Amino acid sequence: MATRKRDLRTGTPIWSVPAVRGPRHDRLHRDLRVDVLVVGAGISGALTAEALADAGLQVAIVDRRGAAKGSTAASTALVQYEVDEPLTLLAKKIGSDKAIRAWRRSALALGNLRARTRELGFDCGLEDRSSLYLSGDRLGREALRLEAEARRAAGLETVFLNRRAVLDRFTIRREAALLSFGNMVADPRRMALGYLRAATAAGATFFASVEITKVEARARLVLAQTAQGPVIRCRSLVFATGYEIPHLVPASGHKIISTFALATKPQTRRLWPERCLIWEASDPYLYMRTTADGRVIAGGEDEEFADEARRDALLPAKIAKIGRGMNRLFPELDMQAAFAWTGSFGTTATGLPSIGEIPGQRNCWAILGFGGNGITYSRIASEIIRAHFTGRADPDADLYAF
Ligand SMILES: Cc1cc2nc3c(=O)[nH]c(=O)nc-3n(C[C@H](O)[C@H](O)[C@H](O)COP(=O)(O)OP(=O)(O)OC[C@H]3O[C@@H](n4cnc5c(N)ncnc54)[C@H](O)[C@@H]3O)c2cc1C
Repeated sequence: MATRKRDLRTGTPIWSVPAVRGPRHDRLHRDLRVDVLVVGAGISGALTAEALADAGLQVAIVDRRGAAKGSTAASTALVQYEVDEPLTLLAKKIGSDKAIRAWRRSALALGNLRARTRELGFDCGLEDRSSLYLSGDRLGREALRLEAEARRAAGLETVFLNRRAVLDRFTIRREAALLSFGNMVADPRRMALGYLRAATAAGATFFASVEITKVEARARLVLAQTAQGPVIRCRSLVFATGYEIPHLVPASGHKIISTFALATKPQTRRLWPERCLIWEASDPYLYMRTTADGRVIAGGEDEEFADEARRDALLPAKIAKIGRGMNRLFPELDMQAAFAWTGSFGTTATGLPSIGEIPGQRNCWAILGFGGNGITYSRIASEIIRAHFTGRADPDADLYAF
């Protein structure tokens, strides 16, 4: 096995319902030679393959499950630039300059994701949203005020709201909150499928179901053995395999945990003001968004273990708890779950992803877009990898390197 194998998700994510046209895919019957092999057809592989094919590289994508059938199909898809680790806390961990660069890079990547998706012209429910970050046990009122100052000093417009303002504007009873701008929501599955279609339209080939079982990095060539028999020879290989981490990647610095989510029936008239994204400066935290048809998606209640049987057994209790947490904020919401699901989730100590060439494995790259902003990190990965493979250096590559 080249990558770990996991039961990535259980239950019925909301995105399973509408039938969406996938990219054209082929069966792999014989050996192949390409510039870049992208392993994994979730949002990370889709964005990277599109970026590379658009740059004129000869790209093949393979996935052992098929297009957008891994964690991407379980994502609640709050597409934010706000790193899990608040700017003030991240600065203590990696230094102020790097923390500011990481926050700014996320904001830049989000703008680029919006622009590229609109340019490609497919519908994936992409809508702009402000986001409300409520005070909690991680950051109280004073810490949030300092966080707002730090973000504004970094050029990221943020408004501090006191108790009165949070109540008047959002009907929520909390000590304080931060309001930030320019975030988004999307249907993550349709987004990944849209980018995969764009990649194949630009010349990439997509093979499914094809599993990479062994990778051998030679001086100028990488050999990828498939379970189906054929060997793929490439100049570079990118593991975009999500939480199924390649065995070649160093095990330190990241952790797989379990998370839970639900979606309600449509209830347009009961939704909160401005339909902003809401999340809490708490551990564990609750987060929520709305959909175009007026549903509430809420999630959180993370558990620090990856065991899938234990995770799945907790689903009913966790869904009930998320519903109660939502009703404490908005008693008028109907929190009965029309969809409920649970899945693996990757975290890091800094909230930042790992993206780069795998140490000791020449021309083998990995995207570990771990943290609550996985989709934003997938975009950052596609930018760094495209820059590298087209002979340029990305100025922030060092922030995310292994
Ligand atoms: C419940 C939940 C809620 C989330 N909410 C958010 C959110 O609100 N916002 C956000 O930004 N992110 C969120 N995330 C995180 C986000 O969903 C992930 O970061 C993202 O989907 C990861 O995409 P990926 O393409 O890296 O992985 P995946 O979508 O898992 O794709 C990896 C693919 O690699 C394939 N693969 C693995 N090994 C091999 C192999 N050896 N050979 C061939 N194929 C292989 C798999 O079959 C899989 O299809 C959430 C995740 C979960 C589970």
